[in-house]
Formats: sequence, structure tokens, C-alpha cells
Amino acid sequence: MKEQVLRELAVEYESQRAANRVEERRRLGEAAALDPVIGELIARRAELFRQRVRAAFDSPERAMDISKELSGEFTRIASELRERLIAAGLPGDWLQPVYRCAACRDQGYVGEPIREMCECMRQRVFQRLCRDEALGIRADENFAAWDERVYDDSPTDKMPQGQRAEMIKLRNICVEYAETFPNNEKPCMLFCGPSGVGKTFMLNCMAQRALERGFTPWKLTASRMMAILRDAYFERGDPERARLLRESPLLMIDDLGTEPMQENLTITQIFTLLNERNARRAHTIVSTNLLPTELLSRYTERLYSRLFDKRLTRVLSFRGADARRIRA
Ligand SMILES: [Zn+2]
Repeated sequence: MKEQVLRELAVEYESQRAANRVEERRRLGEAAALDPVIGELIARRAELFRQRVRAAFDSPERAMDISKELSGEFTRIASELRERLIAAGLPGDWLQPVYRCAACRDQGYVGEPIREMCECMRQRVFQRLCRDEALGIRADENFAAWDERVYDDSPTDKMPQGQRAEMIKLRNICVEYAETFPNNEKPCMLFCGPSGVGKTFMLNCMAQRALERGFTPWKLTASRMMAILRDAYFERGDPERARLLRESPLLMIDDLGTEPMQENLTITQIFTLLNERNARRAHTIVSTNLLPTELLSRYTERLYSRLFDKRLTRVLSFRGADARRIRA
């Protein structure tokens, strides 16, 4: 998929460069219409340039001298051009090459001899990945499709008001989060509860709402997240995706606790990711089927405290019977 994005961007940059040349010709036409001498100076400069290339080609041993001889003439033309442009009411640099990015001049790459992706290109790859990941979010799971009737409303010992009333409360909190994102009181949420009570469905609803509001959330399973982090750690795979994990404005990590556990790596990487995201004020929602005690023993005190940090995180407890079973 990265290859596909790069191919698309290569085409985009090429047409940007073509558009730049069109803009340069338009500017030249405008300037020459105001002062015909400007057009003549440009033509003279182009002719000098051709001479220089030809002369250097014919007698390479004199290339340096020829270049020196002509550079005085180039400088004279440049300063006369500048004066005439300003006199015509245009900016002095009006006829300089046009480009969107000064660093790479719209090539998308910088550096010699080692070619590196320019920051402008990197940014565009990132935006594409964001958009593609957000497009993967299920459209049919949204708050309008959220149906409280799948939850039992009869009171139990643990839930005197019944599961349905509790779930409605949780839904309202999640609707409010999705509606006010990114201006939430607390940037993070932790969904705890057994499987089948609707945590993933709720995440999808929130992601969908954020998408509708013009944001690009990213929802993925903890297993996939770990695969990306592991690949980045071993410097294989796609580094842009690891960057997306760190920078995505709204990251939803589903099913924490189901990812394979690698000694010294999994915990450190999750901890580092959450901290980096927090430093960037990026929002993170985590869901897990594990009980707090299980989280503590699996992830150590350090990560556990981070997950349950009350200053940053609102913990929602999804309780009760499996809604899928009730529905069936
Ligand atoms: Zn650039």
C-alpha cells in the first residue's frame, strides 16, 4: 500500500512541477506586458545560458573561464530585471522559479548523493495513510445503529437499574466525547469489561462520529499495533505507519491483552507509545477484556498506572451479560 501511495504522490508532484512552469510563464507574460524590456532580458538570459552550455560542451577545458565570463553578464541582467519589475509594480523576485516547497523544489526528495524523502513528501504520505486507515472504519456501526434493546433491562444484584440503563449512560459519555473531540476534558479513555458487551461496537461508533466531523481516527487491534511497533523496532516494514501510531490525533487500541507478549519489548513499547502520544496531546482510547488485576500482572505497575492515570483517563466499566448472546 505504501508503494501505491508513493506512485500516486510521484504523479502529484510531477503535475505540481508542470503547474509551476505554467505559473512561471503566466508571470513572465504579465511582466512583459507591463514592460517589454523585461521580456527581452529574459530572452537574452536564456540565450546566454544556451551559449554557456554549448561552449562548455565544445571546449570542456575552458568551461570554468566561460562560466566566469558569463556570470558577470548574468548578474547585470538579474539586477536590471529586479529594478524593472519593481518599477512595474511587481515584487522583485516575481520571475524566480515557482515552487510549493523551497527545500526540495517540488521534487519530493532532498539530499545528494543519498536521496531522502523531503519533509513535505513525508507529510503527504502521512496524510494519505491517515485517510486510508480512517476509511477502513466500519460505516454501518454508528450511534444511530446503536440499539439499547440488545441489553437486558431487568435489575440484578450488581446492577439494580439493569444493564440497559448502565449502557445508555456509557453511550452518552461516548457520544459526548466524540462530539467534543479534540476539546475533551480528559484526552484518554479506557474501556474495561468482558467480551461481547459492546466495547468494540462503541469504539466504531465513536470513530465514525469523529470521521463525520472531519477528523481522521485510527482504530486497530492491539495485535496489529504491536506488529507495527515490532517492525519499526527491528527496522523493517513501514516506518510511516509507526509514526502514524505516535501522531494520529485519535488512536483507538482495541482488545489490549490479546497481543502476543514479548519479554521486555511489548510493555516498553506500549508504555513509550502512550507517553509519546500524551506529550503530543494526542487522544487515545484503549479497550480491554482483562480485569484490572490481570492488567497489573501482565503489564507491570508502571504501565498499569499509566493506563489508569486519572488525570488523563476516564475509565468506563462495561458490565453485564454478553449482548450478542442476548440478541441471539
Ligand atoms: Zn519538499
